[in-house]
Amino acid sequence: MFRCLETWIETHAYGVRKMSKVCAVFGGSRGIGNAVVTKFAEDGHKIAVISRNKESVDRTIQELVQKGLKGPHLGVSCDVSDEKGVQATIKSIQDTLGHIDILVNSAGVNKDALLLKTSTTDMTSLLQTNLVGPMLTCRAVVRSMVQRRAGSIINVGSIIGVKGNPGQCVYSASKSGLQGFTKSLAKEVASRGVRVNLIVPGFINTDMTSGMSESIIRQAVPLQRLGTPEEVATAVRFLAYSPYITGTVLVVDGGMQLNI
Ligand code: NDP
Repeated sequence: MFRCLETWIETHAYGVRKMSKVCAVFGGSRGIGNAVVTKFAEDGHKIAVISRNKESVDRTIQELVQKGLKGPHLGVSCDVSDEKGVQATIKSIQDTLGHIDILVNSAGVNKDALLLKTSTTDMTSLLQTNLVGPMLTCRAVVRSMVQRRAGSIINVGSIIGVKGNPGQCVYSASKSGLQGFTKSLAKEVASRGVRVNLIVPGFINTDMTSGMSESIIRQAVPLQRLGTPEEVATAVRFLAYSPYITGTVLVVDGGMQLNI
């Protein structure tokens, strides 16, 4: 399926790929976001990589340059839950690279615990990062997108936000919330030519799933394996280049949603 998608993109997105766009990827230093960064840089776009850890942001930019993906690219260290930090980050990207054409919200954390054992502090900080964070980044870019009558936003949800999971009440709520937010914002800005979509990954092989047992994977995933960050990035790229898709939820989960 992904080969077909790649072929489709090669054929139909040629024009888009020829024009260098500005892509801002929150959570671009590791995991899914990092695979998105590589894909868009390979397409010749200018990339802004944003996460909290300055060293890993700088390393990501260096890796792009070492691969010959010259950019210009920009690395910014910012906590997505910090309103002023997000505003300053978006301004610095716009001042350095130009208007943001594609925004990807992949920054996220999980703190697994039964609700009875979850502190209010943990609840709040998880919601701030996974839900309020994307709201802040979207709000910071959407005015400029609306003014230019163009732009694509891709938020990263989770299959856990669709199906729920014991031990992940707050994480699940953050991702369900992101789904409602994505659809509502899509409705708010569609008439201005701005698209907003949600990718819903299943279990993907990143730091977030390190230590997950083979038996859990086989039980939960009909395709019997973890997905790769590149497989999710391919779907993100498809949404970014699909001018007639907005408000959609694209599930990339190896069939997890088929399970009862
Ligand atoms: P990783 O832990 O591999 O990467 C998370 C990225 O987000 C890192 O770049 C991290 O950098 C950044 N980040 C975390 N917190 C913040 C913050 N407060 N501000 C800015 N950046 C932050 O995670 P994944 O790539 O696996 O996950 C990416 C997204 O996909 C998340 O939203 C996650 O919920 C979702 N997802 C993941 C699944 C999986 O199985 N892996 C399944 C379903 C959804 P730094 O620490 O330097 O800030």
